Amino acid sequence: MNGPVNPNCVYLDYNASTPIKPEARAALIDALSHTGNASSVHGPGRAGRARIDRARGRIAALAGTKEDRVVLTSGATEANSLVLSGSGRRRLLVSAIEHDSVRHFDPAAESVAVTPDGIIDLADLERRLAASTEPALVALMLVNNETGVIQPMAEAVAVARRYGAVVHCDAVQAGGRIPIDMAALGADFLTLSAHKLGGPQGAGALILGMGRDVAPLIRGGGQERGRRGGTENVAAISGFGVAAELAVSDIAIQKRLADWRAELERRILAAAPGARIFGANAPRIANTLCVAMPGVPSETQVIAFDLAGIAVSAGAACSSGRVQASHVLRAMGADESLVGSAIRISAGYASTAADFDRALEIWIDLYNRAGRGTSGVAAPAATVARAGWVV
Ligand code: PMP
Repeated sequence: MNGPVNPNCVYLDYNASTPIKPEARAALIDALSHTGNASSVHGPGRAGRARIDRARGRIAALAGTKEDRVVLTSGATEANSLVLSGSGRRRLLVSAIEHDSVRHFDPAAESVAVTPDGIIDLADLERRLAASTEPALVALMLVNNETGVIQPMAEAVAVARRYGAVVHCDAVQAGGRIPIDMAALGADFLTLSAHKLGGPQGAGALILGMGRDVAPLIRGGGQERGRRGGTENVAAISGFGVAAELAVSDIAIQKRLADWRAELERRILAAAPGARIFGANAPRIANTLCVAMPGVPSETQVIAFDLAGIAVSAGAACSSGRVQASHVLRAMGADESLVGSAIRISAGYASTAADFDRALEIWIDLYNRAGRGTSGVAAPAATVARAGWVV
């Protein structure tokens, strides 16, 4: 099982969305075939409630916490908005590499710098926290979706504590890739998304730290203990629960992905010494490779990969489907030329060594066709586009 859409597609865009696991899909379909509002007191209603409770337990276990700490939402974007709007803290400090669902929440939020390796600059965080006595909420993701760089969460929490700040951790890209333990991380709030760990799109959760709470963003019938109104999406939540349980065993396959990625990087750099791998010197999750092919625009690369039957992306997926220059790579201080020529290759539980081989083949082929590989002379991006080898 590889291509979630089409068996001929090599799918290497797990950070945008993972293929749904068969067990999660089965749970989702099974739930869909049962009627009943989970708030109803009759049998069908109670059966829906039981499905939600089971899923909640599995999601809590993934984050190493208790069921009553889990607020189910329509996805990570909603969970992020819920905490950013409802934590009771008006002052927001947001790392410069956060996902847009965090970064765009409040235009007045302060941006915390990152190092050229894509790791939060703890000195900048401390300087900003020290500059005001107003209690703050710090938003720092556990794993960056574009580079895969793992952030020093416990250290950031320790800094935040010195200034009475609370910390929100967007752990969307960590699920199934590295262990997530609320207590060890020390975060006050944590976000998960089902479709990044083998579950369906449209389900997520905000996990509350012990003693923490949020004011609802969506008011309604008192669901989720009054923290999130609206009839629950029992089917999606059921699929999320099963995926969350299975995600724990995905951690075991990370070693295999790390080996394949190391080989891919080694061969790219051997063929193209000018290529740049972002976050190479930082701790990274095993599945993600963000690499620049100098002189060839990201969009051109993504289209060429697509034509070759390989799904990859340039930076974060955005709703317009257009490629936007990456704020993450800019925040890392990368040259504009590199920012504009980076793509993200992200693998997962169903990826194979052959997928990596194929990605390498296409990458090198593109590089050579852009006039960089064989002659060593770069063709300007405009020439590459005009040459018509892409479309
Ligand atoms: N945070 C991060 C780090 C993400 O990668 C994403 C998805 N690209 C989101 C939040 C938003 O997740 P969802 O699609 O569940 O709203």
